[in-house]
Amino acid sequence: MTQSHAPIAFDNSYARLGPGFFARTAPTPVAQPGRIALNRPLAERLGLDADWLDSDAGLAMLAGNASPQGADPIAQAYAGHQFGGLSPQLGDGRAVLLGEVVAPDGARFDIQLKGSGPTPFSRRGDGRAWLGPVLREYAVSEFMAAAGVPTTRALAAVTTGEPVWRETALPGAVLTRVASSHIRVGTFEYFAIRGDIDRLRTLADHVIARHYPDAGDALGMLRGVIARQAETVAQWMALGFIHGVMNTDNMAVSGETIDYGPCAFMDAYHPDTVFSSIDRGGRYAWAEQPQVAVWNLAQLASCLIPLMGDDTDRAVAQATEAVHGFPALYQAAWLRRFAAKLGLANPRSDDRALVERLLTIMANARADFTRTFRGLATGEAAAGFTDPAPYRAWERDWQARRPDLAVAAAANPARIPRNHRIQAAIDAGVTGDFTPFHRLVAATGAPFDDRADWRDLSQPPGDGEAVRVTYCGT
Ligand code: AMP
Ligand code: MG
Repeated sequence: MTQSHAPIAFDNSYARLGPGFFARTAPTPVAQPGRIALNRPLAERLGLDADWLDSDAGLAMLAGNASPQGADPIAQAYAGHQFGGLSPQLGDGRAVLLGEVVAPDGARFDIQLKGSGPTPFSRRGDGRAWLGPVLREYAVSEFMAAAGVPTTRALAAVTTGEPVWRETALPGAVLTRVASSHIRVGTFEYFAIRGDIDRLRTLADHVIARHYPDAGDALGMLRGVIARQAETVAQWMALGFIHGVMNTDNMAVSGETIDYGPCAFMDAYHPDTVFSSIDRGGRYAWAEQPQVAVWNLAQLASCLIPLMGDDTDRAVAQATEAVHGFPALYQAAWLRRFAAKLGLANPRSDDRALVERLLTIMANARADFTRTFRGLATGEAAAGFTDPAPYRAWERDWQARRPDLAVAAAANPARIPRNHRIQAAIDAGVTGDFTPFHRLVAATGAPFDDRADWRDLSQPPGDGEAVRVTYCGT
């Protein structure tokens, strides 16, 4: 790998935490880097030179073929509870953190390559990603950002010119992921289960300084993580989003949505919806997500007990109380989000029942989640029901609340990256045609814009088009 003079001022605070937190690992060069997408607005927001990123030298960095000056590439160590079972050592098995940059406004961001080759944490994996999950993560995370959901971002996607073996040979790709950090609940678990209290404290201090500067101590940080996760999960729910793998290693302590794997947005609404092929018990179904968040946050809380003073009983009581605070925070966020979807900017407590009645009518009719809510703003909601009578009865009570349709329009996207559209973009991408992908990213990156030439992308899947199962398939 060659050294390159990248005009990027890396400042690597995580790498400075010292041994034990990561393994120094460079990306593995690829045969033939090829451009798929560069996110210029994000580059600007980060203070990076988009023209340089678009140059051959930039492409070489984004593919892992050149190590930019100032980068200190590492694979981060973490553990995690996967489907309820503890894996004591996971870590970045197919990702490398190149380094951190500080944006013009002072905000710090990780620049990570995902799919950049094996690391000491790869176990039996190849450290690579194929094009499908890279395009999905790019499109979905950028939609989430456009919809105002805390999320990791996609700075770039490139092809590698190498095959990746997943039952068959598939084209390899690398995603450049940007996050306020990649520190997970599972990062805390990694040190807690080893009884490495010194590093646990170092990690907590780093997270407090980086994400929760007002927190003061571990308990304050825990409360902060809980509050942010309550908001984030409420936003997922309001978009019909199903993360799919809410393992503790896939929950960022920053509150950002992270690790888009077999994630999906519901088309037809039903609260029990599951897409992931590996989620057989429905552990991570749409309606389960708030409870799973509590479960994950309880794991974080128990990790932090050793940092909460000598009186363990008191620490346990305080940590428990903090976790028990989630439902009230979540319920308040849920009501605010769903009331806004109904055009009610100042929700009353009885609006909860109004929302729930609509959701029940939608579930019974398997109404399209996105189109029904958008239809409230545009007057087209009834058209989505074969038998509109239950909806019409609800609509009279809703109208009596005098909704503000501009509020509803701002809360209900006209478009989401629907599964069948992502699938079509991937299918075309595999043949080398990224036109559908770019169109999908442009249209779902402006999700509240009612542009006529994007109307087809608002349509639910037709007969035989619906994608009902998604795969980790990384
Ligand atoms: P995830 O599915 O993102 O939650 O990943 C779970 C764990 O498996 C993490 O430690 C990943 O780094 C690791 N992993 C997933 N795919 C690969 C791969 N292709 N090669 C190496 N490690 C992988
Ligand atoms: Mg993960």
